[in-house]
Amino acid sequence: MPDLPKAEFALPSELEAVRNERWRLQRERLAHSRFYQAHHPSAPITIPETIAGLCELPFTDKADLRQNQAAYPPFGSYLAMDKRQVTRLHRTSGTTGQAMNLALSAHDARLQAEVAGRAQSAAGLGPDDIVVHCLNYQLWMGGLTDHLGLEATGALVVPFGAGGTELLIRTIQEVGINAISCTPSYPARLAEVLREHFPHIAPRDLGLKKAFMGGEPGLDDPEFRSRLFETWGMQAMNSNYGVSDFLCNFAGQCTEQNDLHFMAMDVAHAELIAPDTDTVLPWEAGTEGELVLTHLDRECQPLIRFRTGDLIRLTATERCVCGRGAPRFQVIGRTDEMVVIRGVNAFPSAVAAAVNAEPALNGEYRIRLTHRPPYDRLPLEVELANGEQASTELTRAIANRLGATLRLTIDLSLLPHGALGRTEGKTRRLIRDYEQ
Ligand SMILES: [Zn+2]
Repeated sequence: MPDLPKAEFALPSELEAVRNERWRLQRERLAHSRFYQAHHPSAPITIPETIAGLCELPFTDKADLRQNQAAYPPFGSYLAMDKRQVTRLHRTSGTTGQAMNLALSAHDARLQAEVAGRAQSAAGLGPDDIVVHCLNYQLWMGGLTDHLGLEATGALVVPFGAGGTELLIRTIQEVGINAISCTPSYPARLAEVLREHFPHIAPRDLGLKKAFMGGEPGLDDPEFRSRLFETWGMQAMNSNYGVSDFLCNFAGQCTEQNDLHFMAMDVAHAELIAPDTDTVLPWEAGTEGELVLTHLDRECQPLIRFRTGDLIRLTATERCVCGRGAPRFQVIGRTDEMVVIRGVNAFPSAVAAAVNAEPALNGEYRIRLTHRPPYDRLPLEVELANGEQASTELTRAIANRLGATLRLTIDLSLLPHGALGRTEGKTRRLIRDYEQ
């Protein structure tokens, strides 16, 4: 089996040799996929001999996988291997539909941890760190699989999971933990518990210096990061970007800059397409499009041209000052989270940046849509910072400033500090309060 442990630093020629060799083996696996041979809407699909030929093939989307698992439970007919070689099963939450079963072989699990480890290492995690992993371990990949990605950096990893925040605070203190892996919204919850149960401990005194995060918009916003640094004395890093059906973590920033390095060039083929016309866009800096991914090395559930639903902007393809040749990108948003207000696209990430820039607000917000599109204004609920008082003038002033930044008319509701609640899992910023 070809291997390139430090693929993110590799020369283009080394990378190409490994990609081609992996694709040669992957073609044989795909020849055994009943999904691509019989059940895909465009089956049978002729698997091209070269990676370059992939752009001719039809896409696979989430709905295809969902229907296929419903018809061929539990793994779907895209399993493409003997069930006895499946060594791990994760499930997605199923909040937006049926839960998906994600199968991994030992080989898949090893590669996944290796790629995730590249992302976490680039963000500054290593053998000198003790990191506590505070994502839910129950079923989903963010728990155990992300944990193994953290371990792949050589760091000491403490498996904590979600909830139990008082025990977490004691554990951080008693073990001398210096890093935390969590969602961007979790530190706000941690601060709340500190205030309530440990009023003598300021967040800064807890000793957390590094935060490894992902999964929610707003993390890339410099205001959010500086607020976190001021409160906690810790550096927030975007080190965990992935697509659970494909690879749970394949991109992260490095310590030199904020864009995400695509760490899976040796095991995945990436394309950008225009989401409305499905045309392939050039792979060059400045291109914006939906990220489409093909596994070059996957035993269980290999996918061809999987539409991730994520809109990204490719920002650089040349080598970074950190030494990594892995291309860099920014996440613009989800194709299904985009809210169109009078022809202007609004993404939760852009709203987060604007809200964080307001000193009278604490950064918490929800976009609450109460009816089907079209929308002529953005309905936005925001929380006031501790000690701030709501007034008509303040509402008007903030709504005007946010509107100018986002180029939208804002229907703003100012709520007291804490009114939106805090969650220990992933916070949904866009809420559709109507029957879909
Ligand atoms: Zn870099």
